Amino acid sequence: MNPFDIQLHYPLGEQLPAAGATLEVAPGVRWIRMGLPFALDHINLWLLRDRIDGREGWTVVDCCVTRDEAKAQWEQIFTTQLEGLPVLRVVVTHMHPDHIGLAHWLCERWSSPEHPCRLWISATDYYTARINSRGDISYGGEGASRFFASHGLTDPESLDKVRARAGYYADMVPSVPDRFHRLLDGGSLVVGGHAWRCIAGYGHSPEHIALYCEALGVLISGDMVLPRISTNVSVHDVEPEADPLAAFLDSLDRLRVLPADTRVLPSHGKPFIGLHLRIDQLHAHHRDRLAEVLAACTERPGSAADMLPVLFKRTLDLHQTTFAMGEAVAHLHTLWHAGKLRRQKDAQGVWRFAAA
Ligand SMILES: [Zn+2]
Repeated sequence: MNPFDIQLHYPLGEQLPAAGATLEVAPGVRWIRMGLPFALDHINLWLLRDRIDGREGWTVVDCCVTRDEAKAQWEQIFTTQLEGLPVLRVVVTHMHPDHIGLAHWLCERWSSPEHPCRLWISATDYYTARINSRGDISYGGEGASRFFASHGLTDPESLDKVRARAGYYADMVPSVPDRFHRLLDGGSLVVGGHAWRCIAGYGHSPEHIALYCEALGVLISGDMVLPRISTNVSVHDVEPEADPLAAFLDSLDRLRVLPADTRVLPSHGKPFIGLHLRIDQLHAHHRDRLAEVLAACTERPGSAADMLPVLFKRTLDLHQTTFAMGEAVAHLHTLWHAGKLRRQKDAQGVWRFAAA
């Protein structure tokens, strides 16, 4: 049977938590859904009932971006959903703005001199977020503009807009807590009496951490496994020869050892059952895209910009174009690192990829 004929199962059906409210998805695990000011218009956050050093309270997983609307939604949650108990710690799956944006505010809001409310995150994502929040590295600016130009994005208006976006990250993540607690692959944290195992994933952020609780049969998958959309996997100017797609596909395979009936709590979309099927679908998706890119470059050497109509059959706005360019370079690089394509700079300084 075609794997796409089998559907993922959504155990809560069409139910969504209302704004400022929560929905229980497993014992002691509550779902919060907050609005986002992007095409991807929401993020899922999780509240886990917890007890640390004898204090009852909650562990928060992921934070939303630094925006007044998000703070207002949190305040509503604090008033109505915490049963009068404090937030004890903030776990962040990875350094993207929608996940870490309000960590500084949450940690400060719930810390006291005796009881610091600590940020728990992988070290790689912690330091990346701190550097990016100072605007030293971002998802726009001169470096990003030069990088996209070297991959064939030549339209001056788009390049100007990329250059103008130097403050993109720092705007949504103006600061990151001064101190953190490191999450390591294979390590575990105890939340509410249950062990949650950290599973590192690569290719989407520097060191993404998903959390698996065997006792509850629940995986907080972050952005590594999403039910409806494929996770963004991009090459960025700070690491211009990277092969994040191979790393991402390897990371997906590491999640295959989890039981088939695991309840997956993704950062976007609805909780679902069907982890193995979704991993198969994502592999098939990228295998097809890689085949299309290889065929196009075999016909005629091409740049990443030349691959946009091959990979994306719709018109893209600037925000989508920058994501799409990063994805196109990622697909070209996987084929290049696998020895199926070779690359050469043309007279205009643009990388062109041809069959090896
Ligand atoms: Zn992300």
